[in-house]
Amino acid sequence: MSPANSAQLATPEVVRRQVNLFDLQRQKSRLGAEIETRIDKVLDHGQFILGPEVEELEQDLAAFAGVKHAIAVSSGRDALIMALMALDIGPGDAVFVPGFTFSATAGSVASVGAAPVFVDVREDTFNMDPEDLERAVERVKKDGKLTPKVVMPVDLYGLPADYAAIGKVAAAHGMKVIADGAQSYGGEAGNSRVGALAPLTATSFYPTKPLGCYGDGGAIFSTDDNLADVVRQIRHHGRAGDGDEALRLGMTGRLDTIQAAVLQVKLAAFEHELGARRRLAAMYTERLKDHIATPVIPNGYDSAYALYTVRVKNRDGVRAKLQEEGIGTGLFYRIPLHKHPAFAQWVREDEHLPVSEALAEDVISLPIHADLTDEELDYVVTHFLKAIA
Ligand SMILES: *Cc1c(COP(=O)(O)O)cnc(C)c1O
Repeated sequence: MSPANSAQLATPEVVRRQVNLFDLQRQKSRLGAEIETRIDKVLDHGQFILGPEVEELEQDLAAFAGVKHAIAVSSGRDALIMALMALDIGPGDAVFVPGFTFSATAGSVASVGAAPVFVDVREDTFNMDPEDLERAVERVKKDGKLTPKVVMPVDLYGLPADYAAIGKVAAAHGMKVIADGAQSYGGEAGNSRVGALAPLTATSFYPTKPLGCYGDGGAIFSTDDNLADVVRQIRHHGRAGDGDEALRLGMTGRLDTIQAAVLQVKLAAFEHELGARRRLAAMYTERLKDHIATPVIPNGYDSAYALYTVRVKNRDGVRAKLQEEGIGTGLFYRIPLHKHPAFAQWVREDEHLPVSEALAEDVISLPIHADLTDEELDYVVTHFLKAIA
């Protein structure tokens, strides 16, 4: 046999890849040197709490979101807590949260002594269902035990909730809206970016969020001067500026200067990263749309694609098959909020959120991050289609 023939007969080598759900090491090879320089500067000037980087970052975060105020804080959950504190929410108050989200959404409500009330989500967008919100508010009013005060929609996987419809329900019942935008910084609805879609918005800079730092961090956005002042006091022990006096109850709720320095570098690259995520999401959708339901992005909306999440039958089997091929997936979330032991006291006896419960059974998130290559995406799609066949 000639060498040419033997080459033709050889089995093509199957390239096994390792494709992680997230990959922060690649981002570090792009941005690491500059981040180290910025951190060194903080170590040199030594203003570790509310140093100059924090205020600079806040200005850039606000400008990016197109909103007047950004206040950098200690975490996404703390951002939610401080937003609730700024509205004086506490015992006896009802805060309406979606049934399908990370536990911190309802946890923040419980942390201020208020009662989370669970609202089902929509089958298409996975976000809070304004019609079920209306029903839940009516029920709470009829029960007469709690006062409906706040609606806290979540922008799940990076897609903003339907703030237009939710805002109408809130206004009709004299409630305020706090957006849980922990996953959606960079998301858009009707020419506004997340941060400008509600009077108060909380976001998270947890490392794997679309914009993440190297530790815990978050921000509160506000369109309201007075609320912004109040939040600034709350994050700093209830003090105004350098004043000694505690004007109100507060927290140790500031973002570290070092994390602000990290975020300055990452924010400068964020527009590019957001574009990369959106391009990859469009590729997934193009390749998958004839096989399964792909994420629904309503007209005028854009997602920050914190995650690219689809629904499959036999989800755990699909996940195991992908794992065998070196593909990391995520299950966000396996437990709807009303099934968490921590929230049992706020769950009605007949509580049933059919969409939230179904989603918890069959969602799976595929790898998406700014440094995922087209070849890797192709590898994921190929094995995903095999796994669901
Ligand atoms: C991540 C997240 C939070 C909490 O953010 P942390 O910074 O981890 O405290 C809250 N809500 C949602 C929807 C989240 O995804």
